[in-house]
Amino acid sequence: MSSPTIVIVGAGVLGLSTAFELKRRGHAVIVVDPGGANASRVAAGMVAPAMEAAIDDVSPDRAALFRAGRDLWPAFAAASGVALARRPAEWRGGDVDAIAGRLTALGFAARREGDRVVTDEDCQIEPDQAMAALRASLDGAVLERRATGLRQVGDEWRVEVNGGAALAASAVVLATGTDAAVPGAPAATRILVDGVQPIRGQIGVVVRDLTPHPVRGPGAYVAPMTGGAVIGATMEPGRRDTAPDAAVSERLMEAAWRVLGQAPEPLTIEWRAGVRGASADGLPMAGAAPDGEGLFLALAPRRNGWLLGPLVASVVADAIEGRTPSPEARALDPRRF
Ligand SMILES: Cc1cc2nc3c(=O)[nH]c(=O)nc-3n(C[C@H](O)[C@H](O)[C@H](O)COP(=O)(O)OP(=O)(O)OC[C@H]3O[C@@H](n4cnc5c(N)ncnc54)[C@H](O)[C@@H]3O)c2cc1C
Repeated sequence: MSSPTIVIVGAGVLGLSTAFELKRRGHAVIVVDPGGANASRVAAGMVAPAMEAAIDDVSPDRAALFRAGRDLWPAFAAASGVALARRPAEWRGGDVDAIAGRLTALGFAARREGDRVVTDEDCQIEPDQAMAALRASLDGAVLERRATGLRQVGDEWRVEVNGGAALAASAVVLATGTDAAVPGAPAATRILVDGVQPIRGQIGVVVRDLTPHPVRGPGAYVAPMTGGAVIGATMEPGRRDTAPDAAVSERLMEAAWRVLGQAPEPLTIEWRAGVRGASADGLPMAGAAPDGEGLFLALAPRRNGWLLGPLVASVVADAIEGRTPSPEARALDPRRF
C-alpha cells in the first residue's frame, strides 16, 4: 500500500485542476481515472464569463463568480503550461440589444459593432492541450484505474482500484463527472453524487478556418480550434448517450450557418458528444462532502467546467487545508443542498 496522500478520483478538468492546485501547494497527489472520453475533452474550451452570464441572464452574484473564475486563469495557465488565448467574443442575432444590455448591467465591458456585440472579457483554452499540460504538470501521478471502492479506516481512506492495490489517502476528492458514486461513499455524499444531472452536449469539429474568435448566436456558436473550428453545442438535459445524433447535427449546422451568415462549401464535420454534470442550482459542488471526514467533492460545473476549473480547484484545496471559506467557497459548498 502506498503512503498516505491525497487521491483525486477523476481526470476531467475538475480533477486535474484540483490535483494541480494541490501539488503546487506542496501536497502529494495521485489521480485515478480509467481514461477514455470525458466531457472535458469534448468541450470548446471557452473561458467565457461575459457571454455565459449574458446568454443565461444570470444574477449579478453569479456573474461575479464567473468573473472570479476567469480572473484566476492567467496565473493558473502560466503555472500549469495551459495555453490561454485572449481573443474577442462576439454575439450576433436578433436579440443583440438584450445581450448588450445584460453585459453592461452585469459590469462586463462590451461594444456594439454594427449588428453585433463584442467583448474582450472572455478567453479560450484548447481542451487537448490543456489536459495534456495539466497531466504533464503532475509528473506521472495519474493512474489508469477506475476507483471501485471507498473505505474509511481511522482518519484515513482506502481507495480501491480495479486491478491494483488499494491506495491509502489522507483525503479523497471525488471529481467523477456524471458517473455513479464510488461504492462505499457515505450515504449523504452518495445522494449528492448520484443526483448530479446529466446534460448531453454535441459539438462538431471542422478542419477549416471558419472564424478567428468565438461567434455566438441563437442556437449555436462557432469557435476557433487548432487546425479549424468547432460548432457547438447542444444542451440536452437527461441524455447520457454520446454517439453523434444526426438530427442534432443537422439542427446545429443550420443554426451555425445562420450565426455566421453563410453556409461554407461542403465540409467534413467530426461530431462528438459529451455529458456535463449539473447540480440543482447550476453551480458546481466544491468543498467538503456532507459526510465523511476527509472526503471532498469537485463536481457539476454544468456548461462552465473550463471557466470554473481553477476556482473549483482553489476552493477544494482551501477546504482540504482547513482555510476560512471565501465567498466563492460558500456559494459552491456541497452542503448547501
Ligand atoms: C459539447 C460541450 C462543450 C462544452 N464547452 C465548454 C466550454 O466552451 N467552456 C467550458 O467552460 N465548459 C464547456 N463544457 C463543459 C465542460 O466540458 C464540463 O463542465 C466539464 O468538462 C466537466 O468536467 P468534470 O471534470 O466535472 O467531468 P468529466 O470531464 O466528465 O470528467 C470526469 C472524469 O471522472 C472519471 N471517473 C468517473 N468515475 C470514476 C471512477 N469511479 N474512478 C475513476 N475515474 C472516474 C471519468 O472517467 C472522467 O474522466 C462543454 C461541454 C460539452 C459537452
